[in-house]
Amino acid sequence: MNAPALPVSRKTFDEVMVPNYAPNEIVPVRGEGSRMWDQNGREYLDFACGIAVTGLGHCHPKLVAALTEQANKLWHLSNVMTNEPALRLAKRLTELSFASKVFFANSGSEANEAAFKLARKHASSRHGSAKHEIISFFNAFHGRTLFAVSVGGQEKYTQGFEPLPGGITHLPFNDVAALTKAVSSRTCAVVIEPVQGEGGVMPATPEFLKAARELCTRHDCLLILDEVQTGNGRCGTYFAYEQYGVTPDILTTAKGLGGGIPVAAMLTTDAVATSLAFGTHGSTYGGNPLATAVALAAVNEIALPETMANVKARGEQMREGILAIARRYGVFDGVRGMGLLLGAPMSASWKGRAKDVVNAGLRHGVWCLVAGADVVRLVPSLVIGEADVEEGLRRLDAACAELAGASRAANA
Ligand SMILES: *Cc1c(COP(=O)(O)O)cnc(C)c1O
Repeated sequence: MNAPALPVSRKTFDEVMVPNYAPNEIVPVRGEGSRMWDQNGREYLDFACGIAVTGLGHCHPKLVAALTEQANKLWHLSNVMTNEPALRLAKRLTELSFASKVFFANSGSEANEAAFKLARKHASSRHGSAKHEIISFFNAFHGRTLFAVSVGGQEKYTQGFEPLPGGITHLPFNDVAALTKAVSSRTCAVVIEPVQGEGGVMPATPEFLKAARELCTRHDCLLILDEVQTGNGRCGTYFAYEQYGVTPDILTTAKGLGGGIPVAAMLTTDAVATSLAFGTHGSTYGGNPLATAVALAAVNEIALPETMANVKARGEQMREGILAIARRYGVFDGVRGMGLLLGAPMSASWKGRAKDVVNAGLRHGVWCLVAGADVVRLVPSLVIGEADVEEGLRRLDAACAELAGASRAANA
């Protein structure tokens, strides 16, 4: 028999965990669909999905079935041998995208690490080592490994970790002129999030993505789209790039790919894939049968026309609801994003207070996220029902009413 579980609480975190996170006081213990329950049995509506990861909600029956079935078959082999779930998932991802080759990793950072290394290798093997410059954008987020965080465009995440990898240039996002000036024969890749997620839910303009594509083709460098957050149906099409009519050379994805199991993928073309020749890169866990079996079930569920139709319908419902709250209390300055990747920027008089909205939301039983200090991010499940969206918005409304009331009282 197993020993009884040790009683733990939020306090235990401060005792035994490295203090790089500051988790909320709430400790959830169970989830089902778009609802979660904490240690005290309190229920929450989930507009966060563990930062856009559990895109099919908690404990989706098809994912639970895929996980338990594979758990009883085979968990791990290493890449000395391939496995059926990984091959099936790779085939499915090539059907759903521009790509014809796949590399599996375990996180978004690792998928990006693979993409950046591939871009360097591809350029150096064909043009020599001078063609190594990676162009990325301020406020971009590409993960936390040293290479990924250095390509990302938020200085606060690299401070103190120097020396950083070199050959990385940051430009203003959506600035076609700056990009046109910067791309040269020395550039090996331009890296773009179709919607900057962590950076404030900021969509790329169609002109910007089109210009990036043209410049990359002209200067023989690779367009890398980081769809770690925007991919897997989050924006209303399987990948966000489909809506821009711009095809990348490399695409990275993770978050929603496994519906909550850690798995990531880098997708590319036959021509580019040849540069990641035998022995050039690898991962112990990447493409393990347990994770890829769950991801295949998630991908198949996400790619259903009815799931994508729900993202569009619920996205509209969310937008209207957020705009109504914005009008009622003046907290938000509109709403932006694509599909069910939505950001509500704080209005001028509420600058810097996105976190207050999230905390008030939790008091009223709805879990939302921030994307920086000035944007409330809403990323519900792709299969959330109309009634759950309605209820979550009602709770968010109550949270904003409380904050607005407190502000009025303080100013009176
Ligand atoms: C979350 C995220 C990452 C990093 O993914 P991890 O799984 O945390 O390594 C990279 N890029 C984007 C766009 C992300 O949103």
